Amino acid sequence: MPVATPAQYRAMLDAAQKGGYAYPAINVTSLPTINGALKAFAESKSDGIIQVSTGGGEFASGTSVKDMALGAIVLAEAVHRLAERYNVLVALHTDHCQPKKVDTFLKPLIAATAARRAAGLGNLFNSHMLDASELPLAENLRLSKELIVECAKNEIILEVEAGVVGGEEDGHDTSGVAADKLYTTPEDMLEVYETLTPLGRFMFAATFGNVHGSYKPGAVKLKPTILRDGQKVVTDKHGAAAEMDLVFHGGSGTPLEEIRETLGYGVVKMNIDTDTQYAFTRPIVDHVLKNYDGMLKIDGEVGDKKLYDPRNYLKKGENGLCARLKEACDDLLSTGNTLFGKV
Ligand SMILES: [Zn+2]
Repeated sequence: MPVATPAQYRAMLDAAQKGGYAYPAINVTSLPTINGALKAFAESKSDGIIQVSTGGGEFASGTSVKDMALGAIVLAEAVHRLAERYNVLVALHTDHCQPKKVDTFLKPLIAATAARRAAGLGNLFNSHMLDASELPLAENLRLSKELIVECAKNEIILEVEAGVVGGEEDGHDTSGVAADKLYTTPEDMLEVYETLTPLGRFMFAATFGNVHGSYKPGAVKLKPTILRDGQKVVTDKHGAAAEMDLVFHGGSGTPLEEIRETLGYGVVKMNIDTDTQYAFTRPIVDHVLKNYDGMLKIDGEVGDKKLYDPRNYLKKGENGLCARLKEACDDLLSTGNTLFGKV
């Protein structure tokens, strides 16, 4: 199946909202990570979201070119071709784009989708995230309004963020922000709903103490009830159908009961990166440490070509990532819920 059409993607999000489950959204940076993600979704019979960050795009374009939009396009085109071999739906998304990167990342990617549509092809990306959470809410929403209009013209869903996700990811460090900024207020959630709803479909990364990265148990104080309280203010005023599609950032390392609690409050997408990065690298470390002698040319020897062939250990990384992503499908209750062939 090719990448989900805009209508299929909307159906995916609606089904998750109604069914009380969410999609893992996994960051990819290379063919082995794409292949591990597709394999996991297919084996779990789960639809899913594959996403590219600005840093992931830059990495994928090579250490010489370093063009984040170009690398994201290359990864997305690879997903379009490879996803055809699997019987699940996958949507393509881009992760955090701060205001200063809008012109060099988001706008060229929206233009790439517009060009494909003009040529009779499907969207390159199904959704994009604008992360203007570093701005005051009024300025954040001014930029969000401008971009959601551009996205809506191309049937692209815009993810926005209000409040701040803590920690560090992709070189963007928010560990110094005031603690109260880590929790979106119900008033802000209502303002985001009322400002964006007339303009286009959106997803909302409301923050509830969540942080990027991996932490020891107890170090992160999640308050998922923030999401419940914000949704209530919106649905009390606008009716039950107004429940927003929420996104859970920093899902890595979160206890299962806290993940499950958020599903009841309208979370339909949970980002996972740190845990799948580790799951990719862990078997490679094992391979290197066990095969140290064969991977190196020591004392005039020639080493073992089979052991230092990158395919050998990258396959192990692909499978490690796949196993961890299948766990995420189970945690988020998306396992077995594919809409492939149904919408
Ligand atoms: Zn994030």
